[in-house]
Amino acid sequence: MRERLLALKEEALGELSRVENQQQLNDLRVKYLGKKGRLTEILRGMGALSAEERPIIGQAANEVRGAIEAVIEEKQTGFQKAETEARLAAETIDVTLPGRPAARGAVHPISKVIEEIEDIFIGMGYTVAEGPEVEQDYYNFEALNLPKNHPARDMQDSFYITDELLMRTHTSPVQVRTMEKMKGQVPVKIICPGKVYRRDDDDATHSHLFTQIEGLVIDRNIRMSDLKGTLLQFVQELFGKQTQIRMRPSFFPFTEPSAEVDVTCAMCGGSGCRVCKQTGWLEILGSGMVHPRVLEMAGYDPQEYSGFAFGLGVERVAMLKYDIEDIRHFYTNDLRFLKQFVHL
Ligand SMILES: [Zn+2]
Repeated sequence: MRERLLALKEEALGELSRVENQQQLNDLRVKYLGKKGRLTEILRGMGALSAEERPIIGQAANEVRGAIEAVIEEKQTGFQKAETEARLAAETIDVTLPGRPAARGAVHPISKVIEEIEDIFIGMGYTVAEGPEVEQDYYNFEALNLPKNHPARDMQDSFYITDELLMRTHTSPVQVRTMEKMKGQVPVKIICPGKVYRRDDDDATHSHLFTQIEGLVIDRNIRMSDLKGTLLQFVQELFGKQTQIRMRPSFFPFTEPSAEVDVTCAMCGGSGCRVCKQTGWLEILGSGMVHPRVLEMAGYDPQEYSGFAFGLGVERVAMLKYDIEDIRHFYTNDLRFLKQFVHL
């Protein structure tokens, strides 16, 4: 029996020396050391041995098992090491390869114009105020001297959500909310940029969604000349020092008197061109002195305080500034259009 054990050891070690991969190693482990393996098979004959022989053979069997296990262990370690090395080699990174450039975004032209206008007015001591786009009828119309059934409401076709809630048709409700918050204190000196909504058929110059910036100043002794001086400085900073303005009488329910403001055409300098329809002037602003009724409703005594307000469409300014012929370009997210503003 001792000879059979030694022969088994020789055979096993011989086979193990030729093993080439993990699978073959596993197979040999089962073949020699498994529950139905060769070693177990031999040891089954131990029952026939005498009491003296049994421990001797038992010890020999343990030595054989130990020797085979040691070789299997050694091979196992070798295979694992080789596998790790192969994986590391496969995952090597060539740090000298040039990188892939990341696509850079750009500030949207509308955001650019808003930021530019904000900077101009912040420089004149204004603060920026914002408010909700879903607005109460009271703030959008009534507090601005537009009671229910007022015919001028038709000037601004609205998206109503309920009888009392609508998408704001201008940023003027932010002015009302600010006056309310100020509780009669002066000076009020704000600009309100934001999206507004009107029921309009979209075409090259109209959009049901557009962006407004309005301004409001309230203090003692505020006059029409303050409004004119402010707007002149504003347009000269926005379009250039040579820009002039003219004011034409107009009507808005929340200002009295009211004026449309034209600027000299930046494209032709006033001599007449396609953009200004040969007039030399471009209409860009609505303005006026805050209506006494609006001041009163917001808690300001019109005998003591006065103010001016103005508003412009950001898309209109951006179209003039960048010579864009269709307002829809701002909202269709065509990358060919937007990419032109990366370096501006
Ligand atoms: Zn022109």
